[in-house]
Amino acid sequence: MQELQDLLKQYWGYEEFRPLQAEAMASVMQGRDSVVVLPTGGGKSLCFQLPAIALPGMAVVVSPLISLMKDQVDQLTECGIAAACINSAMTQDERVRVNRDVREGRLHLLYVSPERMVQPSFIAYLHDVQLSFIVVDEAHCISQWGHDFRPEYRELSRLRDAFPHAHMHTYTATATAHVRDDIARELRLHEPEILVGSFDRPNLTYRVRQRQGRQRDVRAIIDRHPREAGIIYCIRRSDVDSLCTELTMAGYRALPYHAGLEDSERKANQEAFIRDEADIIVATVAFGMGIDKPNVRYVIHAGMPKSIEHYQQESGRAGRDGLEAECCLLFSGGDYGIWKYIIQQSEEGVAEIGLQKLNEMYRYCTGVSCRHRTLLAYFGETYTKDRCGACDFCLDEVDVAEDSNEVAAAIFQCVAELGSMAGPSYTALVLCGSTEQRVLSKGHNNLASYGALAERGQMAVRSWIEQLAAQGYMEKIGEYHILQLTPRARAGDAAPRLAKPVRRTPAAKKKAVAGDSWEGVDEGLFEALRKLRQSKARERGVPAYVIFGDKSLRDMARRRPTKTKEFMEVHGVGRTKCTKFGDFFLKAIREYCTEHGLEMSPQEEQDEPETPARQLSARRPSREEMQERAGELFAEGRSIEAVSSILQRRPTTVESYLERYIVQQDLADPSPWVDAAVHERVREATAHTNDTRLKRLYDLLDGEVEYWKLRISLACLRNEAAG
Ligand code: ADP
Ligand code: ZN
Repeated sequence: MQELQDLLKQYWGYEEFRPLQAEAMASVMQGRDSVVVLPTGGGKSLCFQLPAIALPGMAVVVSPLISLMKDQVDQLTECGIAAACINSAMTQDERVRVNRDVREGRLHLLYVSPERMVQPSFIAYLHDVQLSFIVVDEAHCISQWGHDFRPEYRELSRLRDAFPHAHMHTYTATATAHVRDDIARELRLHEPEILVGSFDRPNLTYRVRQRQGRQRDVRAIIDRHPREAGIIYCIRRSDVDSLCTELTMAGYRALPYHAGLEDSERKANQEAFIRDEADIIVATVAFGMGIDKPNVRYVIHAGMPKSIEHYQQESGRAGRDGLEAECCLLFSGGDYGIWKYIIQQSEEGVAEIGLQKLNEMYRYCTGVSCRHRTLLAYFGETYTKDRCGACDFCLDEVDVAEDSNEVAAAIFQCVAELGSMAGPSYTALVLCGSTEQRVLSKGHNNLASYGALAERGQMAVRSWIEQLAAQGYMEKIGEYHILQLTPRARAGDAAPRLAKPVRRTPAAKKKAVAGDSWEGVDEGLFEALRKLRQSKARERGVPAYVIFGDKSLRDMARRRPTKTKEFMEVHGVGRTKCTKFGDFFLKAIREYCTEHGLEMSPQEEQDEPETPARQLSARRPSREEMQERAGELFAEGRSIEAVSSILQRRPTTVESYLERYIVQQDLADPSPWVDAAVHERVREATAHTNDTRLKRLYDLLDGEVEYWKLRISLACLRNEAAG
């Protein structure tokens, strides 16, 4: 295993394996067939890519989509690993070159489609080559029980006859036992090792909200992620078109994606998103398969999906790189209605299962408990942590109303009194004591429950009714959603949990997970490096993340390396990438730091490597928490040195806290941190130049004012000008 570990560092620049990767690789190395089930972003590809380099011969990888193959081959190539694919979109020249490489035994990995893999001529071709092993990626496509059955995958059952002695390794993110069994049986695997990882995604923060206004709700979430990549899922094509137009008009870089668009447009939009040329893709469920983009920072469901399987799949596209990401689900009772109508059109048995799944999904939306726990429980896994620290419930954004029981009792009473003849909206009207004519004319103002929840507000009551329905206390019957109590409500021993109407804004809680992954990162430098990455990616015709992931850029902007040796220590920098890109990135870092007076390779706080475990231990205070504590100390007028020693943070870090504090508090006076005379000198200097680069200013002041003071002064001057 040590050999594999070394290769991991050398080619990928990673320090350690993710859960189950080592076990999965061991079965490849030992030549035992395997079925590996890991969630999206779990790092499945590495499980076969690394052994493919370590073992003699070439591994053949069956992959369902050309885009997936291309993406992996690009990534491998940039890491200096010999890999290629054969597909129908290639030119004759490319094909000849790949053929030659295969014959000369130069490739470690060859990617092909399932159709090609079972062609007799291709099988014969492979018989002349030294094969290390065969990989079936996205193996759930072979099973009708999966969510993405592909008939061409079924044909792969012929592989065993074609290659009786080959070792086969299969990978999927679909967790059910049914699918797993199908894979092993259809491919006739030999006593396969079955490895199933945890499906929890600790770096994802889940939030669910009843939709109040689509555009406003969606924008509030996007605005927590400026310039970051996000996917917005809608139920219908028409929703995609209208929402995308609204966002574009509001100045967001958004593109649509659904099956109704021309093929070429769809492709172009997807490509633009992958290459970071558009920030947002607004899509139906048609979007996603074949997208390996690792830096999706948020996934919004603008409408409720029809099953938890779908939700898991779609929301799982966020944060593949292991960095924090947010998954928000906006739902309404109407979404439930739309799906119910659609599902009821299908044939009998199918509709039944569909409705069951839909109800589970709705229960998730209206449920009041930890989202991580609920999702895992659905897939049969037990969540062991008490509080996940990464869902609206555990972050205390949804409070359970202390008087849930009384509220529920009032609602039950009202439904009973209305005698199973009213839907949710009307029931809410009565509970809130509405004086609308339709209420009065029916004499419902004389019911005992009339006005019982008047002071709670229509919105809240309406939402509670939905919550009770989803928790199984009431049913919505027929076209008009007539409410009817279930035995559960009548039992009297029930303990419904109702959410208090939302007050807190999640904005304050942003990045509660893995909060310290921004710790010490200079965001300006990060932006500069992002631009450089973009231009390198254009030059080479690959997506930006193929050059370096966000995590690597943050690590660069944190370590600010000066030498190649230091650059090699950055997360995700292997030998090849260091050779190809090291000089460019080092130069950019040097220039930025000089221009902005940033210290280079600051050491003290970087000794511990940024491992996923440390990142997620979350007990190290997050940057936000530190900022907050620092702010309290600044408010007391403490100096940089004092705050630095109280918080145990470097002075340079504290300086950046101070700068942010000044911006947040909108201060125009930099005392006591910068004295008045110095501040006046800075004011004068800025009046003499339009050049706001710090270096320029620093020189103008003959290097007598330290950089951090310049920054503080400038921040105050900007506030003054704005104020
Ligand atoms: P999956 O196919 O399971 O969805 P990928 O193989 O695409 O996941 O991996 C997701 C991301 O995680 C990729 O960017 C990959 O380079 C990265 N990754 C995989 N293994 C490791 C590891 N051991 N350490 C750090 N990053 C890793
Ligand atoms: Zn939770």
